[in-house]
Amino acid sequence: MKYHLDTIPVWDAFSEDSECPFCILEHKSEQSYVESHLGGSVMEPDTRIEVNEKGFCPHHNALLYQAQNRLGLALMTHTHSLETMKKMNKKIEELEKAMKNPEKISRLLAKKMSGGESRLQHSIRSFSDWLLSHLNRCTICDKISYTLNRYAYTMIYLWENDSEFRKTMQGSKGLCMSHLPLILNMAAEQLSSRKQTEFLKELLSLQMENMERLEKELHWFTQKFDYKNQDKPWGSSRDALPRILQKFTGKYME
Ligand SMILES: [Zn+2]
Ligand SMILES: [Zn+2]
Repeated sequence: MKYHLDTIPVWDAFSEDSECPFCILEHKSEQSYVESHLGGSVMEPDTRIEVNEKGFCPHHNALLYQAQNRLGLALMTHTHSLETMKKMNKKIEELEKAMKNPEKISRLLAKKMSGGESRLQHSIRSFSDWLLSHLNRCTICDKISYTLNRYAYTMIYLWENDSEFRKTMQGSKGLCMSHLPLILNMAAEQLSSRKQTEFLKELLSLQMENMERLEKELHWFTQKFDYKNQDKPWGSSRDALPRILQKFTGKYME
């Protein structure tokens, strides 16, 4: 897939002192998509079609709900519910057919089905799968994922073509474990084998140095609970716990 470069947000995120510039980028793009879905873009036909089809995941429904534009969310949810009911009716029709003839197995189905399930068991399972898949479909998640891919593409491009950026990256604290795979996969896609090796060496040693730093900061945080250390300085350990949790999960602790 081809992405367009978007250098300014990537430079901005890498210029901030953080445990992961992509956590900053994800947070900003999430905020802007939540806002735009309650503002002008709700009325754009493309967005409406996408929202009608996918709706939002539990996390983004909660953010939209907290944003206090109840009418905007109600309008989107209403048309999404019409679309969902149509699909649900079809699924229920399939179930009803299976209920009339619970044991019958078509030759086509027999191929797909595992472990001697009856037709009705198969239909129940496929209905449940469909219900659960609803939780994973999300217009905002998809947009964030596209945007982050674009930033990852930009980061790889800057690393390869801009020596200032490469220096800034080398002086950064690396990435969190949630965003590192995104960058690694993009490097595998975009760089020659020789450059991949060079990139991996730089990035992975940066990652390990910073894990070691965090481990030490967290260790001192736990030592500070010992009364003998009460009067010793915190150093950089005071917020080590939320920072290392972010390093593991890609989520800020509130
Ligand atoms: Zn991150
Ligand atoms: Zn989502």
